[in-house]
Amino acid sequence: MPARTIYLDHNATSPLSPAAAEAMQAAWREAFANPSSQHAAGRVARRTLEEARAQIVRLLGGDPSGRSPDRLVFTSGGTEANTLALRGLMTASGKERLIISAMEHPSIQATADALADEGYRVDRIGLTNAGVVRLDQLEGLLAEASREVGLVSVIAASNETGVLQPIGAIAQLCASAGVWLHTDATQLAGKHPLEFRYRNLTAATIAAHKFNGPLGVGALLLAPAATPAPVLRGGFQQAGLRAGTESAAMAVGMAVALQEWADKRTERVRRLQDLRDELEQGLAASWLGGAVVLGSDSPRLEHTTCVALPGADRQALVMAYDLAGVACSTGSACASGSTERSPTLLAMGLDETLVDSAVRFSLGATTTAAEIDDAVRRIVAVNRRLRAGTAVCG
Ligand code: PLP
Repeated sequence: MPARTIYLDHNATSPLSPAAAEAMQAAWREAFANPSSQHAAGRVARRTLEEARAQIVRLLGGDPSGRSPDRLVFTSGGTEANTLALRGLMTASGKERLIISAMEHPSIQATADALADEGYRVDRIGLTNAGVVRLDQLEGLLAEASREVGLVSVIAASNETGVLQPIGAIAQLCASAGVWLHTDATQLAGKHPLEFRYRNLTAATIAAHKFNGPLGVGALLLAPAATPAPVLRGGFQQAGLRAGTESAAMAVGMAVALQEWADKRTERVRRLQDLRDELEQGLAASWLGGAVVLGSDSPRLEHTTCVALPGADRQALVMAYDLAGVACSTGSACASGSTERSPTLLAMGLDETLVDSAVRFSLGATTTAAEIDDAVRRIVAVNRRLRAGTAVCG
């Protein structure tokens, strides 16, 4: 067993940034109180919370000031923010049709299925071979029924292939049809600017643990026009949009981690793209007939690669790489361990041999060149053994 695991699963969750950890420790000390309490300690927590909130809104390209500010609702993570977006905005819209894409995260797919069971009509837009949502289908649906559609929800960048979706073009289609647009920006946030106002988005989901913030806090950013019906009811926290005591420290951790990505974005993204390319080349050279990088014809998140090794089994690959000290995954972390094929890859119309042999490597802020060199060596050794038909865990 190699001494140290090389962690290439940052899209599942990423390590907490030391600066965020330090800021959170201070906030837990200084701003521990309930932000809704009226005493001085409560007011300190409230101020800390609201400053972090405003900073995050600005970093996402929203405007937290003025008479019609964008609002940020803190949640427990991406799943809860997506649920609030779909359920809350569909209810608030008073309309009966929801449009999502075929490549959404399970938190969107399952919520859409639940809404369908409750009587809403859900349409799913298909994907091209290159892993991009079919704009023509969206245009057709909006032309046919824009008055009945309450919400369109399309992921900003795939958690599996990293393929960036044309959110600007989708936003234009939605705006001219007068339909709200939510984007699940969980994988995009930090790595690319979201430009919330500039792109005319209605709502966007983020989760701090994907950009080196704390695990257990996410958020839904909302344009002034959109007020979702609450999913969690109780106290009047967050203007009644999400009951439950807010954590100033978690908000601070999120703000610091997102700020770090914004400050270092250009350098980090360039470096990660070079490292990702090196990893892809190493993988391709080690597989007979070559590896296939899925979605490589499209613009992708620079730190993500989804690679198929035709003839291999994805679960066996992930286990063998893990034993060799390389942590990666079979697509979405929530689906890993399941034997179900990836709906995203199937929707791209890919051959089953590619879908069944696809593994995802996702690099991150802490990934080094030495780690990638080492990972390639370990992966090549595993692939050689697999090709030779010897035990995976030799
Ligand atoms: N949306 C996307 C695109 C994701 O990748 C994830 C996490 O894997 C989620 C939503 C869910 O986020 P969380 O695990 O914070 O609930």
